[in-house]
Amino acid sequence: MEYRSSRRCPEKISVIGLGCANLLGSRNEKKEVIKTAIDNGVNFFDLALATWEDYEIFAEAISGRREKVITQIHFGAVYEEGKYGWTRDLGKIREQFALQVKLFGYTDMGYIHCVDDNEDLQEVLQGGIWDLMQEMKAKGAVRHLGFSSHNSAIAESLVSTGLVDMFMFSVNPAYDYRAGEYSIGEPSYRASLYQECEKMGVGISVMKVFAGGQLLDAKTSLYDFALTQAQCFQYALDRPGVLTVLPGIRNMSDLQTVLKFTSATAKEKDYGFIGEFVPKSAYGKCVYCNHCQPCPMGIDIGFVNKCYDLALAGDELIFSHYSSLPATASSCAKCGHCESRCPFRVKQMERMEKIAERFGK
Ligand code: SF4
Ligand code: SF4
Repeated sequence: MEYRSSRRCPEKISVIGLGCANLLGSRNEKKEVIKTAIDNGVNFFDLALATWEDYEIFAEAISGRREKVITQIHFGAVYEEGKYGWTRDLGKIREQFALQVKLFGYTDMGYIHCVDDNEDLQEVLQGGIWDLMQEMKAKGAVRHLGFSSHNSAIAESLVSTGLVDMFMFSVNPAYDYRAGEYSIGEPSYRASLYQECEKMGVGISVMKVFAGGQLLDAKTSLYDFALTQAQCFQYALDRPGVLTVLPGIRNMSDLQTVLKFTSATAKEKDYGFIGEFVPKSAYGKCVYCNHCQPCPMGIDIGFVNKCYDLALAGDELIFSHYSSLPATASSCAKCGHCESRCPFRVKQMERMEKIAERFGK
């Protein structure tokens, strides 16, 4: 398992996390799934669960290992009659969180639950919910503040407060190119949101990594054929700022399928072919997929391009990452191999020149 962290979230977060809202089966079966996930290195769990009983099961499953687990709890998900409900009622949210603290002691991530429009955002900011979350952080009951959203403008405005450490956002190769119910806002704006997060050290946990399953089925996929789980995971994990993906699993079999990513080959994770299907406006922009490898000079073409884009976005810290690479853009021999392979039609030889110039190496 690979682990990632960011400046604002220094904990080591497993790149594969889990969404546990759809867990099925008996109490023991659910517990076994969670324990097996932890045994296999998964440490990040989204806890917008279906029932209150599932919280109790989760608490039992992590008993004795609380510090090994990173919890993501949502202020606004409530369980008045034991079942999931959504509210902006401050009193109910306060009560609900007190129960969650009793179970877990604290939460690593405390998120505003699902904020997708401006009116709702104002209610959260002015109606006391955000204040409550900050109060809980000051008391140590929340370690990091954040939110979940499908709207890139809302995400940008919350990130720009400087109070957010990490947030949950819908990221996949369909939503990044097409606006919709779960990808609200101008698609071209999303890339700069990811860059801004990386620059500010804000982490992203990814929901809807398969676009609600659509990308895994040729009949519903934007690309006319199915992508694999590994390709969807790698796509999301290649976006700047992303620390973990949170596939929703139902049972042990789903967990075993998801965990295959940890041993998948570069070829199995290669999603570069989507370049043949994206809108023409996306041509010429590197998406860091590394489909163009191998580079005879050993340049990690995707990462070098990511460094360049982050440097252009004003990320000063990226210079030290870049200079520690074994091969940089200045090693480019202009062989043209990457250009002939790139489905996004990136003029990489020209770009390598610009990158070398920018980094001065
Ligand atoms: S140049 Fe093309 S193939 Fe290579 S990493 Fe960038 S987008 Fe992918
Ligand atoms: S053109 Fe440069 S970056 Fe591309 S494969 Fe050749 S040496 Fe590597």
